[in-house]
Amino acid sequence: MLTNFSYMRPKTLKEASKQLAVNGAHLHAGGTDLLGCLRDHVFEIDKMISITGLKELKGIKKTAEGGIRIGALTTVSEVSENPAVRSQYWALAQAAREVASPQLRNQGTIGGNLCQKPRCWYYRGDFHCLRKGGEQCFAIAGENQYHCIFGGGPCFIVHPSDTAPALVAFDASVRIAGPKESRTVALEKFYILPNVDTLRETVLEPGEIVTEILLPPAQGVKSSYRKVRARASWDFALAGLALAVKFNGDAVDSARAMLSGAAPIPWRSRELENSIIGHRLDEATAAKAAEAAMMGARSLKQNDYKIPLFRGMIEEELLAAQKA
Ligand SMILES: Cc1cc2nc3c(=O)[nH]c(=O)nc-3n(C[C@H](O)[C@H](O)[C@H](O)COP(=O)(O)OP(=O)(O)OC[C@H]3O[C@@H](n4cnc5c(N)ncnc54)[C@H](O)[C@@H]3O)c2cc1C
Repeated sequence: MLTNFSYMRPKTLKEASKQLAVNGAHLHAGGTDLLGCLRDHVFEIDKMISITGLKELKGIKKTAEGGIRIGALTTVSEVSENPAVRSQYWALAQAAREVASPQLRNQGTIGGNLCQKPRCWYYRGDFHCLRKGGEQCFAIAGENQYHCIFGGGPCFIVHPSDTAPALVAFDASVRIAGPKESRTVALEKFYILPNVDTLRETVLEPGEIVTEILLPPAQGVKSSYRKVRARASWDFALAGLALAVKFNGDAVDSARAMLSGAAPIPWRSRELENSIIGHRLDEATAAKAAEAAMMGARSLKQNDYKIPLFRGMIEEELLAAQKA
């Protein structure tokens, strides 16, 4: 049973932001994550502020610079099918396609996908864990096969979004509207590690709303998103890699590599990037890069399988990128 709350559907962004700044208010977009959290009493709210009436937050447009802007209320399905996304930002189209199920992709928005709550079963379950203001992370001594191998402590969640790592691989930014002013934040700086704050996943302040995602031009970039999961039907990533590389002849000229299913935030692997820049992606380079990417990994009791899983997946993806 849901606890009672009031529901508002503001007509303007300014009004939505003002209403959202009030204590106990929570933003509603597609509702696919939020309603599950409320139903399971992960947190309670007094007021639901639905932004679904704000048409200006919907759709994908090309920018004057040759990039694109994606409105936060654009559905995940639209992102995966959009021709401009598919032609220039292939990894994003692939990542969006890997999200959940067709029904959830039709209802869930890209803004909601970036801001969704963690999937740790202690957080989602009946446990007063650190992320709910409690004293301990139950995953440390508990069932931790799906938890993180990078960036953990004192909480060990993994970031659940598939689209976020792909967007960071393209150096995307988010435009944020607040009660007083708007700001633009690089998506790479949008997420917060648990050692900074266990109660927040993003830099969003009360009343702030992600309005759009800005992607710079990516002509000449080869990209891919690979997701390994336990089930072929909907499931979150056990291990994933978003790769965006530019070649100069046969060798890699520039690269951005983001791991998913690895850390509490989309995890940039500079070790992987540095191991491939200047090199042809042959078997020796791929093996070295996979090894380097996993150097700093710290597993818990039940998730050390992730390290060889990532290594194998990274090698395969790098070899595929050379051939693509
Ligand atoms: C069964 C299931 C399986 C799933 N599998 C996957 C998966 O494999 N990969 C994956 O990436 N995701 C997965 N998801 C998550 C799903 O993609 C998200 O639920 C969806 O994209 C969220 O979008 P929404 O519009 O429904 O967000 P909502 O549920 O409306 O909101 C989610 C959260 O984000 C906040 N929020 C929403 N929009 C904004 C905004 N514009 N600005 C600021 N805050 C905002 C809300 O306040 C809320 O806290 C799964 C979800 C379910 C239920």
